[in-house]
Amino acid sequence: MKVTFPHMGYAYIAIEALLSGLGHEPITPPPGTRNTLELGTRYSPEEACLPFKTILGNMLEGIELGADGVLMLGGWGPCRLGYYGEIQRIILLDLGKQVEFVTLEVPEGGLPKALGLARRILGPTDVKELWLGCRLAWAKMNAIDELENLALKVRPREKDHGATSRLLAREFQRLRGAATIKDIRAIHQETGQGLLDLVDRRKPPTGMRIGVLGEIYTVVEPFVNLRLEERLGYLGVEVVRTISLPKWVEEHIFQNAFGFYTRRELLRSAAGYLSGFIGGHGLESIARSVDLAQGSVDGIIHIFPLACMPEVVAQGILPQISQDKDVPILSLVVDEHAGEAGFQTRLEAFVDLLQRRVRVCQ
Ligand code: SF4
Repeated sequence: MKVTFPHMGYAYIAIEALLSGLGHEPITPPPGTRNTLELGTRYSPEEACLPFKTILGNMLEGIELGADGVLMLGGWGPCRLGYYGEIQRIILLDLGKQVEFVTLEVPEGGLPKALGLARRILGPTDVKELWLGCRLAWAKMNAIDELENLALKVRPREKDHGATSRLLAREFQRLRGAATIKDIRAIHQETGQGLLDLVDRRKPPTGMRIGVLGEIYTVVEPFVNLRLEERLGYLGVEVVRTISLPKWVEEHIFQNAFGFYTRRELLRSAAGYLSGFIGGHGLESIARSVDLAQGSVDGIIHIFPLACMPEVVAQGILPQISQDKDVPILSLVVDEHAGEAGFQTRLEAFVDLLQRRVRVCQ
């Protein structure tokens, strides 16, 4: 089957390796653009959140490229994500797209469910290829995560504006083509060194650190968050990530499948502010805000799509955390009408506010 899937930053590199290992041909849609969003918005219910529209746009562009299968992530709980896959399947059907639609429900409910899911997505492959595909996908996902985290430290001090992003884009294409674990390790190491060489040693670190959290798709997909990490880096800010895709896969897929996943740690951090799961990443946003506020960040940015219920609840709680922990928190809401100029102005004003606070405290 030729399978397309939604974008989530550079995760497509790992997803391609996984799909190949499963015996499918991956059809990667083009990176998200205004066209993707317009396409998705045209066929989406008006009140659907931004991820729904962008993902539908990715699917339609992937189908245009010849995909006859669609892979989508499902969910459960109070968040609407749980039924998005089904609505998207119906929309595609209404548009006359004859595709096999597979929704990956994160298997909450033990090993039998996880095995049932694995059988649904398994194509014509042998065990050896499957094993290699899984290992390559995992190694690529971890390499991307580590290198992107390193890039967050390098970007505020890069010699040439944009050099960090250009290097990552180039080296990740090499990583995409890597067919062995040895090649992945070599590219990982060379890219890490390449990133360090971009640092302008004469430029003193600003020391400004901002934690970023919120709805997972919005946090990790640069098209949707208007390249938030890059913009902050160019303002001299080191971004501290709170969401890591490998960690998410480990906890929500593997630990869940074997019944080991627990929210105990999150609930402990969020104690006094939120006492239960509210769907999506709402609980994580509260727990991570508390953790970050007790750490060494100068401020926190909370980003989410308009009408995202779990994050709207979190947004209502964050001012209390900001007051209690004395850390500025900026909530940014994005939708299909978000403009780059207004977004940039808000970021600059927030960074300016943090710099003034740091100066006053010195
Ligand atoms: S978490 Fe928010 S943005 Fe994501 S699917 Fe749920 S409601 Fe939509």
